[in-house]
Amino acid sequence: MTNNAPNGAFVIDVRDPGRRVGHMKELALDLAAPHDIGTAVIGVVAGSDIHLDLTLQAVGEGVLVTGTAVVPIVGECSRCLAEIRYDEDIDLAALFSYQPTDARGRVIEPDEDADEENLWVVDDRVDLETTLTDAVVLDLPLAPLCRPDCPGLCPQCGAPLAEDPGHSHPAHDPRWEALARLSQPPGEGGPEAKED
Ligand SMILES: [Zn+2]
Ligand SMILES: [Zn+2]
Repeated sequence: MTNNAPNGAFVIDVRDPGRRVGHMKELALDLAAPHDIGTAVIGVVAGSDIHLDLTLQAVGEGVLVTGTAVVPIVGECSRCLAEIRYDEDIDLAALFSYQPTDARGRVIEPDEDADEENLWVVDDRVDLETTLTDAVVLDLPLAPLCRPDCPGLCPQCGAPLAEDPGHSHPAHDPRWEALARLSQPPGEGGPEAKED
């Protein structure tokens, strides 16, 4: 399996703790995100520093990796479009199995229809990238908010209301009345009205 040895940004050596059940190793490391992680509106930007505090533990069938990742999140408020930045602590837990071997100790390649979700210890290394990527994506809000009660944008002029709590327009500003008339549906036989 040497030519398939994992070599990504999140590959971790697990020779220590070794295979003696119960042995553990604590590990702290900083890695750069290999690519963007997340959705179009929020996530981790490629190259960001990710801090990992991990415990590697030898269990009977493989290596259990648990710990936390501190990831810098950048996104956009879904109501007011303001930039959002925060560090998120994300729990990680994944079991990497030793590859099955035959009587001579050679690795038995899995069947093509084998469960591809399995994570493997390959050449005493594990690749945390899928584990981390999945955990980050699960953690991200579907509709990010700059603050829980973000009031969004003024429906009349588009100004961010969070920056201007007293924001209002005169009740009878003729400019807005003209706009309102334009956005009303056309009368019978009239031309197609366009919202903008
Ligand atoms: Zn907002
Ligand atoms: Zn306004």
